[in-house]
Amino acid sequence: MLGDIKGFTREELRRFFAEEGFAKFSSSQIFNWIYKKRVEDFSLMTNLSKSLRDFLPRNFYFSKLELKDKAVSEDKTEKFLFKLKDSSLIETVLIPEPKRNTLCLSTQVGCKFKCSFCVSGLSGFKRNLEVSEMVNQFLYLSDYLKPAKVTNAVFMGIGEPLDNLENLIKAVKIIMDEQGIYLGKRKICISTAGLASKIRNLADLGLGVGLSVSLHCADDQRRSRIMPINKRYSLEELTKALLYFTKKEKKPVTLEYILIKELNSSREDAVRLSRLARKLNCKINLIPYNPCEYFEWQAPDKSEIEGFTKALKEKNTFFTLRKARGRDIEASCGQLRSRFEA
Ligand code: SAH
Repeated sequence: MLGDIKGFTREELRRFFAEEGFAKFSSSQIFNWIYKKRVEDFSLMTNLSKSLRDFLPRNFYFSKLELKDKAVSEDKTEKFLFKLKDSSLIETVLIPEPKRNTLCLSTQVGCKFKCSFCVSGLSGFKRNLEVSEMVNQFLYLSDYLKPAKVTNAVFMGIGEPLDNLENLIKAVKIIMDEQGIYLGKRKICISTAGLASKIRNLADLGLGVGLSVSLHCADDQRRSRIMPINKRYSLEELTKALLYFTKKEKKPVTLEYILIKELNSSREDAVRLSRLARKLNCKINLIPYNPCEYFEWQAPDKSEIEGFTKALKEKNTFFTLRKARGRDIEASCGQLRSRFEA
């Protein structure tokens, strides 16, 4: 059976080649060709032995993403819609800033978690992305950006990364590999809706990557209303898992908090959020909601945002207020894909 070469970590390839009687360092050479030199043709990998060059195409192939659509926002955020081999659609977003180029990668086709404000869950869950499908999003965009470089990668696109943990870990290992793409662990962040048990699993792996939690509400009753995952893992359980992660990884997590008009943006909400942030000793990212046609939710007006941030400041809670990027191209989670599947 043929294997998709970009679906394997260097360690997996190393073991495979050793079993087949090839030199152990072949895996490093192949990683170099694919991820550093960006060569996707085994016959051009001239420093490999002739027998390995014959062996490789009989056992491995190169997968590719097909670009189906692209949208560019006024703020230069770019959104790529890719078609997979089974015709599923996924999105990848490129957020260029003066000193960085951040990619927002998808991890699943659709999403099971059905947050009440997020388009990704609307048409249900189809499947997990394969390792190479995550890696290929990265490669496509880094080829596209050349000579500029991808400086950061966040797993914040469609799907729940921790619900596809096994493949996610392999993709992260390939992206971090010093013989391959070699993006630093501090430049990679995984975002979760709050799968407490998987947060512990991730902490145990000690990869050193960042963790972000889509909190959006700091009281159980209302969080369960907008994020059904909260019924499975309450804020108390989530908090314990986050403290475990912080202790193991020796670095703070980030709480993502989208501000939605008249839902989670009152001064009382801010006080609850600051209490939780103090317990976790973490960072907070506030982002005004990106409205879309499928839901009634709106972004709060300026005065509501000011009241919220003032209350945080009064409690000495550190936060960053981010701009919602790519509003005009529906760059929030799942919005471009939904257009094509409607
Ligand atoms: N399932 C993971 C990864 C998806 S991240 C998680 O929940 O973290 C996508 C982020 O975009 C999440 O924080 C999500 O809550 C947020 N989001 C979804 N729809 C949005 C919208 N319309 N406006 C602003 N943020 C949105």
